[in-house]
Amino acid sequence: MEAPTLGGVRLPRGSGETVRLPRGASLTDFAEKIDASPADLVKVLIGLGEMVTATQSIDDDTLMLLGTELNFDVQVVSPEDEDRELLESFDLEFGEDEGEVGDLEARSPVVTVMGHVDHGKTKLLDAIRKTNVVSAEAGGITQHIGAYQAVAHTPDGDRTLTIIDTPGHEAFTAMRARGAEVTDIAILVVAADDGVKPQTIEALNHAQAAQVPIVVAVNKVDKEGADPTKVRSQLTEYGLVAEDFGGDTMFVDVSALQGMGMEPLLEAVLLTADAALELQANPHQNAQGVAIEAHLDRGRGPVATVLVQRGTLRQGDSIVTGDAFGRVRAMLDDAGNSVEEAGPSTPVQVLGLTSVPGAGDSFLVVEEDRTARHIAQTRQARERNAQLAKSRVKRSLEDFLESLEKGEVQELTLIIKGDVSGSVEALEDALMKIDVGEDVNLRVIHRGVGAITKNDVTLASASQAIILGFNVRPEGKVAEFASTEGVDVRYYSVIYQAIDEIEAALKGMLKPEFEEAQLGTAEVREVFKSSKFGTIAGCLVQSGEVKRNAKARLIRDGAVVADNLSIAGLRRFKDDVTEVREGFECGINLGSYQDVKVDDVIETFEMREKKRPA
Ligand code: GDP
Repeated sequence: MEAPTLGGVRLPRGSGETVRLPRGASLTDFAEKIDASPADLVKVLIGLGEMVTATQSIDDDTLMLLGTELNFDVQVVSPEDEDRELLESFDLEFGEDEGEVGDLEARSPVVTVMGHVDHGKTKLLDAIRKTNVVSAEAGGITQHIGAYQAVAHTPDGDRTLTIIDTPGHEAFTAMRARGAEVTDIAILVVAADDGVKPQTIEALNHAQAAQVPIVVAVNKVDKEGADPTKVRSQLTEYGLVAEDFGGDTMFVDVSALQGMGMEPLLEAVLLTADAALELQANPHQNAQGVAIEAHLDRGRGPVATVLVQRGTLRQGDSIVTGDAFGRVRAMLDDAGNSVEEAGPSTPVQVLGLTSVPGAGDSFLVVEEDRTARHIAQTRQARERNAQLAKSRVKRSLEDFLESLEKGEVQELTLIIKGDVSGSVEALEDALMKIDVGEDVNLRVIHRGVGAITKNDVTLASASQAIILGFNVRPEGKVAEFASTEGVDVRYYSVIYQAIDEIEAALKGMLKPEFEEAQLGTAEVREVFKSSKFGTIAGCLVQSGEVKRNAKARLIRDGAVVADNLSIAGLRRFKDDVTEVREGFECGINLGSYQDVKVDDVIETFEMREKKRPA
């Protein structure tokens, strides 16, 4: 067949051969694969009514369209496949134990607690921790790192269990959604005075969908009106038949409040695990597993809790998790003790990563630092490309006019930033559940942990997205940049408030009457204690002005550490003043709030009535 030409240019033409392109590839990437010039491909796309530059990321449909036009069989490679190939190129594989069957050893079950709200999940987690904790010596301070190990004293001796201590099936589902199968066994908590409730069923469905065996903890049996038998009969309808009803699901009556029944509950979990699962892993290989929680710590940098699934993690190991990498500088258990190594089913907090991974990201140990760096950076680049591809508003003039006429521009695009990955995922999850009918769509194009960055704003601006900051603020001058770019940044500290507002926006009913007007920011340079005034922050006003009695919040490392404050006292040298402008030093007193540290930023604002469009 004659090669097609355009403006005298001879175009590359395939004969149906396969071209593999990663999601979000550019025309330059495509051109390289088929040995053509990117500029020619740009022209072809113009001919097809698409305006794109050579380096811009292209969405899947356009890549396929171009393929068809030039007679190539374009296969857009999924991120999962691509990641597998990336690891393969370093002779790595995630998810399988290495070695022979003989290398496998028994490991502890990993347990998640699920159930209806207020049925006692949190109390139960505390009760197990109190009565059966492994690591904390008497009086030791336990800390929530996302998981802990408990011990059960069985007739065959002591056995450990690993308990994930973020209750609720949201966390469970969010991790599963990212392909992380962490949980071996679920404890379904049902309050005996309340019975089976909607979220009981939801939790049960999630566990069954993941083929995770369930042990039922019938809680609050100490309460008057408790009816443990009713719980058993209610659950038979959902396929959970108690042993005394002739089934094989173990039900254990407990009182989390009184710490009663914890031993039998843990034993039931172990028995169920022994009967239904063969929990084994090879401890003698480089460690692999999943990051279950992560956040940015002021003093220690990125801190991630990882659950080792196979192999043994050691201090000094080079590790890559999601798009974060680093060397394990220190490891801590749930009692804050330093540990040297962690084997299968052990949760540990890891210090030494260069950035914050997401909850549910896999981790693996590699032989060399540069391998970890390379994998992480490749993933970062891929993520960036994928985002850009998604954010490219694919719209020809005709399409656009059409959708305007039909009033079809009905997609709300969001970027979510939060202080810990758990809250970012919880928020995204909750937002995705908002039901506003078919003609309105909600899309999250980027999410992350930490302050709102210039990059976030650029992406928002390019894709007409709104940024939601959950307990985080913009870094440096990013707030100003956002306003010049016309990007809407909204701040929340309560998930429900965010959901309400987004839901209202989606329903076209958003009518905020007041909005926050930023007055200024001041950076804390010194902190004084005065017997008369309490804590005084010696500050330099960095932007705008600080006014006495204005509202204030305290920002540390880009995260809000205290809200609802006010500028109770404002002084220059020895004088009380009503306002201090940019570039001047002053002493600020935040009333009864005392926990101010050097480098904190005090942000002041007032509430103004919002102008409504006429
Ligand atoms: P969650 O929402 O499932 O995490 O529930 P919580 O653990 O926060 O418990 C909800 C309420 O039930 C709290 O007020 C607990 O003190 C109470 N509670 C939890 N377990 C028991 C129990 O065994 N007996 C009684 N009487 N109250 C309990």
